[in-house]
Amino acid sequence: MNVPFLDLRRETDELRRELGAAFESVLDESRFIGGRAVSDLERELAAFSGGAEAVGVGSGTDAIAIALRAVGVGPGDEVVTAANTAVATVAGIALSGAAPVLADVDPTTLTLDAASAAAAIGPRTRALVPVHLYGRCADMEPLLGLARENGLRVVEDAAQAHGAELQGRRVGTLGDAAAFSFYPTKNLGALGDAGAVVASDPAVAERARGLREYGWRDDRVSLERAGQSRLDTLQAALLLVKLPLLERWNERRRELAARYTAALAGSTVEPPAAAPAGAHVYHLYVVRSRERDALRERLRSRGIGTLVHYPRPVHAHPAWAELARPGALDVSEQAPREILSLPLYPQLGDDEADAVVEAVLAG
Ligand SMILES: *Cc1c(COP(=O)(O)O)cnc(C)c1O
Repeated sequence: MNVPFLDLRRETDELRRELGAAFESVLDESRFIGGRAVSDLERELAAFSGGAEAVGVGSGTDAIAIALRAVGVGPGDEVVTAANTAVATVAGIALSGAAPVLADVDPTTLTLDAASAAAAIGPRTRALVPVHLYGRCADMEPLLGLARENGLRVVEDAAQAHGAELQGRRVGTLGDAAAFSFYPTKNLGALGDAGAVVASDPAVAERARGLREYGWRDDRVSLERAGQSRLDTLQAALLLVKLPLLERWNERRRELAARYTAALAGSTVEPPAAAPAGAHVYHLYVVRSRERDALRERLRSRGIGTLVHYPRPVHAHPAWAELARPGALDVSEQAPREILSLPLYPQLGDDEADAVVEAVLAG
C-alpha cells in the first residue's frame, strides 16, 4: 500500500464546498485587507487560546519577529532558542533585530533544555523562545522559572502546536507572547501564508497590532518604525472554515499516535516520549532509530513516505554557522542522524497506519 507522507488534498476535498463559500463571501465583501473575516478569526483564535488576544499577521516567521518586538526585544538584544528547530525560528528572531543564541534540547523531548538555556544567558540576553517542536509543548515550568530569575521575556514558538495544553492552559498563553503559523501543512493551515501573534497582555497585543502595519496606531500615525505583515481577508475566511475542526483533527492525530506507539513497543524503533495529557498535538510523529537511513529506505521501497525534521541543526546551515557553540549543542547535533517523521495527519486511515507499522517492523 502506498502511504504518502502528507496528502493535503484529502483535507481540501473534505471542505471544498465550505472553502468555496468562504471565497465567495470575500468576493461579495471585496475588502481584501482588513475585512470582516480578519477580526472574526482574531476573536475565534482568542477564544480558542483561552482568553488571550490574537493579532493576525502574514506568516509564522513574521509573528515571531513581531511578538519579540511587542514585548520590547530588538537590536542589541540576544534571544536564546533551541538549535534543533526550523530555520524559521532564528530567521524570525533575527528579523526582530535581536541576535539569536542557540541552546541544546533535552534528549528525551527534543525541546529546549532549561540547563542549556541557562548556560547560554549573558548580559545582553532579553528573551527565551521555547519551540513546541513536533506539536509537543516544551517543558515550560523550568524555562519560565529561568526567565523570572533573569528578568527575561518568553515568546513561545507555537507554529507546530495549535491547541496543545499544559495543565489545562493552551500554548500561546504560557509566556509573554506567542507566534502561530498557518502555513498549509500545520495542524491549522491556510491556503497560503498566514500567522498570528497571541498575547495575554492587551498592551502587548496592541503593540503587535501596530507593528504589523508601519507602527501605526488607529489614526494611521506611525509611533515606531515597522514594515508590513498583514493577514489577508481571504486567508482569514478560509481559516474560519477550518478552525472549528481543529480539536477533532488534533484528537484524530492523538489517536493515530497512540496506535503507532502501541504497535512499536518492544521494537528497535523508539516512539516519541510520552507527554503529559493534552501536551502533544502530534504535528509530527517522530521516531528514533540507530539505523535510521536503512529504515527510511525500507519504508520508501514499500511506498511509504517519510521526512526528517530536521536534517541538520540550525548552526549547520551555512547562513547560521556563526551560531555554532562547539560542545554545547551535542543533542541537537546527534538527533538529526536518528530521527524520522512517519505519516500522520487527521485523514490518514487506520489501514494506512497499520501498513506503516508493518513496514517499520519488517526490519
Ligand atoms: C512553520 C514554522 C515556523 C514559521 O512559520 P511560517 O508561517 O512558515 O513563516 C516557525 N517555527 C516553526 C517551529 C515552524 O514549524
